[in-house]
Amino acid sequence: TQSIKLSVQLHPYGDGQQLLLTRDITSVLQAEVMRRDFVANVSHEIRTPLTVLSGFVETLQNLPLGHDEQQHYLALMAVQASRMQTLVSDLLILSQLEGSPPPGKGEPVALAPLTQQVHDDALALSALQGSESSGPVHTLVMAPVPEWCLAGSRHELLSAMSNLVNNAVRYTPAGGTIRMAWSQPDDEHVVFSVQDTGPGIAAEHLPRLSERFYRVDRSRSRETGGTGLGLAITKHVVQRHGGQLRIESEPGRGSTFMLSFPVSRLLPAA
Ligand code: ADP
Repeated sequence: TQSIKLSVQLHPYGDGQQLLLTRDITSVLQAEVMRRDFVANVSHEIRTPLTVLSGFVETLQNLPLGHDEQQHYLALMAVQASRMQTLVSDLLILSQLEGSPPPGKGEPVALAPLTQQVHDDALALSALQGSESSGPVHTLVMAPVPEWCLAGSRHELLSAMSNLVNNAVRYTPAGGTIRMAWSQPDDEHVVFSVQDTGPGIAAEHLPRLSERFYRVDRSRSRETGGTGLGLAITKHVVQRHGGQLRIESEPGRGSTFMLSFPVSRLLPAA
């Protein structure tokens, strides 16, 4: 059973009669609860790095000027400040996506150079996870990209694809393999898929992964600079392009994240 909330009002209706007006306000109240939860989550996410930052400021204040450990604390403070910057920037992206009309059939976006950029950025991110001289710690495989153009927004598509590939790099231990590919599995869809050999995700988490701030492993997300907003942004972008985010995963067997777009979004190569 599901409860619904009704607003009930009596209105005079000529001749001494009264009209009973009822309105289903369930969705209005649900939206209000979601808005409140979101504000509470954002406050919490901002408060955490801010508390750490204030702690370091206090420690620095208690050290004599020129103390050896100053640089150490300043570096730790820089990490927290950059975490807050990333969070605020993801929040802005999300609110812009929610507040603006979908990009329509806008510009034709060539997929080959876009995918190459996502690949190159992910390789650089993978290199950051190793020691300075080791280079990338994952194998990244990019299947040849067809000469396709997709109608939409280049920067939105770039952020949706990057979020998936960067997540694969962040959650897959060193030595793992990440494969990205564009394919046309049937007459109606084109799909960008990112497959990793990471830890995989238990089935009960899958439906909630694209909720804002939902994380399976909070500390792993934080350690790798996550905001908990990446998949929420990705889902918004793909839906604005008429598509869907799909996830297949099993613990111990890695994950595959897919952006599936309607074939009607494909344009002839420019
Ligand atoms: P975050 O910034 O925490 O990575 P996301 O919205 O991008 O936020 O992802 C939500 C959660 O989904 C992550 O915290 C992580 O638990 C899980 N996740 C995302 N991608 C992967 C992946 N490739 N392998 C395992 N878990 C993943």
